[in-house]
Amino acid sequence: SKPAVTVLGLGDMGSALVRALLAAGYPTTVWNRTPAKAKPLVDEGATHATTVADAVTASRLLIVCLLDHNTVADVLDTVRDALSGRVVVNLTNSTQGQARELAGRYDVDYLDGGIMAVPPMIATPAAFVFYSGSRSAYDTNKAVLETFGESIYVGTDPGFAALHDIALLSGMYGMFAGGLHALALINSAGISTTEFAPLLKRYVTSMAGYVDGLAEQIDKQDYAINVTSNIAMQSAGYINLTLSAQEQAISAELLEPLGPLMARRVADGHGHEDIGGVIELLKKGNKK
Ligand code: NDP
Repeated sequence: SKPAVTVLGLGDMGSALVRALLAAGYPTTVWNRTPAKAKPLVDEGATHATTVADAVTASRLLIVCLLDHNTVADVLDTVRDALSGRVVVNLTNSTQGQARELAGRYDVDYLDGGIMAVPPMIATPAAFVFYSGSRSAYDTNKAVLETFGESIYVGTDPGFAALHDIALLSGMYGMFAGGLHALALINSAGISTTEFAPLLKRYVTSMAGYVDGLAEQIDKQDYAINVTSNIAMQSAGYINLTLSAQEQAISAELLEPLGPLMARRVADGHGHEDIGGVIELLKKGNKK
């Protein structure tokens, strides 16, 4: 028979995790601050614990999916003694520092996770989850964790899952910022953004391929390799993004910050290199 699992937090994501566990046949105990959210899950086979203490003592493996770091600490602090010796897998969004803090806060085998999916993607091939922290907690519970999606273990440092998670979110929000600006431009001219969207996807997808070349520049700290478009040319062209926004009377505030950074690289004599060199200006010591 399959091992018991407890899930603390039945928001949109916590509920999706519970459904994945139930579908895979794990006896699942659930707790939520607002008890009503347990009802549909109980109908699907979950066991409702009305107190955090009952939830924690029901299983050796505890999965936590609450709003944020402070919520997790507040909830777990109330059951500090009962936690002792258990496995805590914290799938709450956090920073690397917050994850490290929790790892040392309780007498538990601690694994931190970053879910790279929205709730409807859980338990589909599109979902993946970063894990870091206790290697033994990961190895022992891998089968349970893989019910949520592909699992990717990124190291014993409990902060590394959060670091990977937030790095990917940063890439996503950069894309959304650029995408929103692109749609604003098209929309401002009275053109259908619905018809334009496939072109946006096509171009952004092909440009995503250039990330490998940038990564190699950064690892080698050599921004003169893999140069397909030199930064002097890119910087000159980037000015037109602001001018074009002005002509369409839309704000360029989502995109403006990159322009001055590129111009500084050119002014510093790196015009023949690639845009990867902008990373040098993001390093703290080089901040303007
Ligand atoms: P929801 O807003 O749907 O749920 C929040 C959960 O936190 C609820 O269980 C809520 O309880 C609980 N909570 C909030 N404040 C407190 C408190 N003070 N004390 C006790 N419990 C509290 O969020 P999600 O389920 O969507 O997200 C949960 C975590 O998963 C977040 O860290 C989020 O970043 C992460 N995540 C979410 C994704 C998504 O697309 N939804 C994607 C990837 C990660 P109550 O029901 O009582 O309000």
